[in-house]
Amino acid sequence: MTILDLDLFFDDGERKGPPSVKVYEAKASTALSKSSLPGLDFCLNPYIGCEHGCIYCFAPDVVRRQRETWSSEVGYRSNIPVLLNRELRTKRGTIGIGTVTDPYQPLERLLLLTRKCLLEIARHDNPISILTKSDLVLRDIELIRSTARPEVGVTITTMDADLASRIEPKASPPVARVETLRRLADSGIECYAMVGPVLPFLEQQEIRELLGAIAATGCKRVMADRLRMRPGLEMAFLTANIVRSKGVLSDPYRAEMSVRLVRDECTRMGMRFETAF
Ligand code: SF4
Repeated sequence: MTILDLDLFFDDGERKGPPSVKVYEAKASTALSKSSLPGLDFCLNPYIGCEHGCIYCFAPDVVRRQRETWSSEVGYRSNIPVLLNRELRTKRGTIGIGTVTDPYQPLERLLLLTRKCLLEIARHDNPISILTKSDLVLRDIELIRSTARPEVGVTITTMDADLASRIEPKASPPVARVETLRRLADSGIECYAMVGPVLPFLEQQEIRELLGAIAATGCKRVMADRLRMRPGLEMAFLTANIVRSKGVLSDPYRAEMSVRLVRDECTRMGMRFETAF
């Protein structure tokens, strides 16, 4: 399939332009892979690569893909709903959707692959846990509600829209993510905010503002994850002028204090605090 073919897809009657990434079809051999993540029995990733393009993304290292093309070339596993239909007859357990790529990245608006997977899952009683940085998840809110024990996490790392646009360029802006969390909380779906990574260069006031915005949605649970360092990450932040001096990202004391502040603010605001992984 070519990029031009994709331009023919419609979403809610609205014509969308072609995707800004190179798109390729990738046939999957299995839909559900065994998970080693806590609380998840299986992983389901309809896409390979992720257009959101987060500067701190460590997913390509986890799945041994090229970092250079991770956010510019996205594969879609076209046969995954069919495989899922077959595998769900025997595989029982909690399914993590979007463990290494965002299941609601921009391409999903055109391809509806995550939605097709949810349609299959809704016919069975497997609990699901979705993690996203996109308000597109709201498109499927009723479908998600129809599955057995759904949970949705929304990642929000900062309320600074300019900073977010530089570190998570194609994800929904922070205000839209907060609104997504509010609508999920209102709908009664079990939801949580993923503050991950906790950015060690944020000022105390910025962390308080972030947690305050999350608390105001009615969400009662926050999961925090530390920034995972990798070669070249510090230089990427320096080059983008997000931090100005070396060592800010890798200072363990600073990282620890930031996570502690998230925890303390959660306690103060009456939200449950957890650490990821
Ligand atoms: S949304 Fe997740 S998988 Fe996608 S680029 Fe960002 S960190 Fe990576």
